[in-house]
Amino acid sequence: MIAFEYVEPEILEEVLTLLEQHGEDAKVLAGGTGLVNLMKQRLVQPAYLIGLRQLARSPELAEIRPNGGLTIGALCSHRAIETSALIQHRLPLLATTFQHVASVRIRTAATIGGSLAHADPNQDPPPALLVLDARLRVQSRHGEREIELSDFFVDYYETALEPEELITTIIIPPHPVGAGTSFLKFLPQTHDDYATIAVAARISLDGDTIAQARVALGAAAATPLRARAVETALHGQPLTPQVIRDAAALVTEEIDPLADFRGSAEYKRDMAVVFTQRAIERAVTRAQEARGSV
Ligand SMILES: Cc1cc2nc3c(=O)[nH]c(=O)nc-3n(C[C@H](O)[C@H](O)[C@H](O)COP(=O)(O)OP(=O)(O)OC[C@H]3O[C@@H](n4cnc5c(N)ncnc54)[C@H](O)[C@@H]3O)c2cc1C
Repeated sequence: MIAFEYVEPEILEEVLTLLEQHGEDAKVLAGGTGLVNLMKQRLVQPAYLIGLRQLARSPELAEIRPNGGLTIGALCSHRAIETSALIQHRLPLLATTFQHVASVRIRTAATIGGSLAHADPNQDPPPALLVLDARLRVQSRHGEREIELSDFFVDYYETALEPEELITTIIIPPHPVGAGTSFLKFLPQTHDDYATIAVAARISLDGDTIAQARVALGAAAATPLRARAVETALHGQPLTPQVIRDAAALVTEEIDPLADFRGSAEYKRDMAVVFTQRAIERAVTRAQEARGSV
């Protein structure tokens, strides 16, 4: 690791001022679980490291709040999201997804903002947040803007975030009434590994018709992605096993998995079809259960 200067501002404005002053030479440090590894490997070498720990009690950055849907502060840890009663009640998909990340030790340190800015395509939260139509609120000294999560991931470990911007909040719009969700992580090796393929789905039904579909994958390309061809093939179609099978098969047109020690690209393509079908089926079952309980 090369030498760097470390600062820990107590207020958000100071963080934004430092990011503006130091631009690409600076990095913020949230949980440190992603960045420190990259620094040790000299893949990232910031001259200036801005610790966010002192901001962890700021309501905007650290709270989970109902707001029509939900807003989640960027410094909320994976463990806080997994164990939040509000999230378990309102968005069990997120509680389940964050529970799948690594180990309790990592989840206690890692933050949702860090996970998104890190943009490792193998991470678990992005597919679930994509099917929930999440948006990011980001802030710099010059003001605020919102970015749709589906526009945020640009390339391998690259995002639409400017060097002087900080993610402050993740906004989840209201969940469609009666929608069913699912998250499946295929991990044939150890329990705390990254996914070989991960798929999230959200399905809304109108009687026996699929009214709306969201399907997203992780570990399937250089970025997490929405499987739009699959979604289009489901939208407005009658709810039959054949429609689901045919739609899931289209996922191979949209992914470009990288071969690694978790499997060849071809194997991951095959698994993407299998797990896309299962994720859709599970979300449909949940939507039917929700309808039954109304
Ligand atoms: C052993 C191990 C196993 C893991 N297994 C999994 C797994 O199974 N599934 C999974 O999903 N993930 C896994 N991870 C990845 C882990 O979830 C990420 O490293 C983590 O989410 C990053 O969050 P962090 O708060 O630690 O970010 P940091 O490491 O602090 O930062 C990561 C990047 O985000 C930037 N950043 C942080 N916060 C902000 C912000 N608010 N605004 C703008 N930029 C910001 C930093 O500058 C840095 O570039 C694993 C990590 C480890 C070390």
